[in-house]
Amino acid sequence: LKVEVAKTAGFCMGVTRAMDLALKVAREKNEVIYSLGPLIHNRQAVASLEAEGFLIAEVPEEIPEGTTVVIRAHGVRPEVREELEARGIRVIDATCPHVVASQKRIAVKSRAGFSIVIVGDRDHAEIKGLMGHAVGPVVVISSPEEVAEVELPEPLCIIAQTTFSEITYEKVVAEAQKRFPSIEIFESICSSTEDRQREVREMVKRVDAFVVVGARHSANTLRLAEIASESGKPTIHVETAAELSFSELRNLELVGVSAGASTPGWVIEEVIGALEAEEGH
Ligand code: SF4
Repeated sequence: LKVEVAKTAGFCMGVTRAMDLALKVAREKNEVIYSLGPLIHNRQAVASLEAEGFLIAEVPEEIPEGTTVVIRAHGVRPEVREELEARGIRVIDATCPHVVASQKRIAVKSRAGFSIVIVGDRDHAEIKGLMGHAVGPVVVISSPEEVAEVELPEPLCIIAQTTFSEITYEKVVAEAQKRFPSIEIFESICSSTEDRQREVREMVKRVDAFVVVGARHSANTLRLAEIASESGKPTIHVETAAELSFSELRNLELVGVSAGASTPGWVIEEVIGALEAEEGH
């Protein structure tokens, strides 16, 4: 089989950076390293991190003094970092640069007297971290309808979670501009998810079948499989190479491969290798 691999398959810049930083520290220190929440939502990746000596702490209090902790790509509230450092814990900050940019904008605008409207999922770790960077009034909303409920002193500025839907954000912003004509708008959505989906849409036109690699519970991976299968071409979603079934790929020439943002490179490589080994059958 010939295989075409999507350029956008697998870890986004922020996740690659966080994993590289974490592994570098683990290998240098040769001791147990904590991460505040799982560094990545992927079983295979978590298992390989555990083998490297990583432990997941759900809350900062679980991390013993004198140890090292990695802050994941979503970032944290400033107080969390201060509290960890005050307890003598070494902090390795792997907050994604896109998220850091949003945190800084919120801090600057908030100090300048603006109320902050954050658009996103209020239970998400990134949003909790962003809220913590506001020193004044702040609210989280997730739909255009909720704009009517915003009761904050003007001036206002509005900013989105980095992975929020661009289309929904545009609608929220349009509503907000009607109620608060002078509201300042920040374009903070990271393009990584959109780019990945766009590439699958393009690739699926020229391949005979599509394989999507990633966790079954990963929303962005499921979305990729959905996009590929909407084309009517055979689409297979696997977590690992062991799950590949070649019966659907018989007599085909070119297979496209992409993967979700939390799928490690080596898991993708194994799938590509298994597909390529089918050549000539
Ligand atoms: S902001 Fe974008 S690049 Fe950064 S971690 Fe999130 S999806 Fe990845």
